[in-house]
Amino acid sequence: DRIGVDAGGTLIKAAVHREEKWIYRSFPLSQIDACAEWLHLISSERSIHLTGGKAGKLKERLRGRTSVIFPEFAVSAEGARQLIAYERDVVPDAFLLTNVGTGTSLNYVHSGKIDWMGGSGVGGGTIIGLSGLLTGIYDFDTLIQYASRGRRTMIDLTVARIYEGEEPPIAGDLTASNFGAVSKDSSSSSPEDQIASVIGLVAETVTSLSILAAQRAGVNTVIFAGSTFSGNELLTEIVKRYCAEWGITAMIPRHGAYCGAIGAACS
Ligand code: ATP
Ligand code: MG
Repeated sequence: DRIGVDAGGTLIKAAVHREEKWIYRSFPLSQIDACAEWLHLISSERSIHLTGGKAGKLKERLRGRTSVIFPEFAVSAEGARQLIAYERDVVPDAFLLTNVGTGTSLNYVHSGKIDWMGGSGVGGGTIIGLSGLLTGIYDFDTLIQYASRGRRTMIDLTVARIYEGEEPPIAGDLTASNFGAVSKDSSSSSPEDQIASVIGLVAETVTSLSILAAQRAGVNTVIFAGSTFSGNELLTEIVKRYCAEWGITAMIPRHGAYCGAIGAACS
């Protein structure tokens, strides 16, 4: 078996290659000890390949086992390539990889090289933290369920609403101001609406950055990865639509949460 583990700021993702198939498992970072125990149980003599910001912390807990730490961006790029190859006939030679984890990072991947193009503190952690502050709900699965029933119109201000009847210089349905429709006197919004707007803020931020970085790098494909996309239909939908409007192909692989883990396993 090949075993790759990506220990990030929020979740530890493990990918195990066994009998030609990938087995996936994730643990909250708070369960790092349980994760280490599980790794001891499932793994044979082979060394465990680690990556991510908490790889060192996990390595400490894997005493007595051989483990090696690999650089996060390089292995994630390799994992993204593999996941796209499972789903499509061709993998682009060059692409932008946007990883929406706790935070967001953008990497230009081309001919075996990786250039970090920046990032944003707006990411998956923002969905949990800001939604939590607004609604008291901190559970990711509950948050995405609520968001699917939410409407953003009470909270987010569109370009069309600012131009009100006039011809806007850009598409009227673009968001002019996230949360900009909220005022002291505006009618109250539901938790569902608030969470949908938080996801909208994260979606539009990571997409805008990705489009600009892709243009700068001269590529028209962006691969979006990270656990923030797991089951998150609203995020997926906004990212795809917004990219399409700019002529950018957004690829959001299934199991994109495991890019780093797969890449590490194969390193
Ligand atoms: P980073 O790469 O920034 O160090 P990470 O690798 O831990 O962090 P990911 O696992 O890619 O980040 O994504 C974490 C985000 O995924 C969370 O902030 C949250 O929005 C979302 N998420 C998806 N599933 C869960 C879950 N079961 N528990 C908590 N957050 C989840
Ligand atoms: Mg990560």
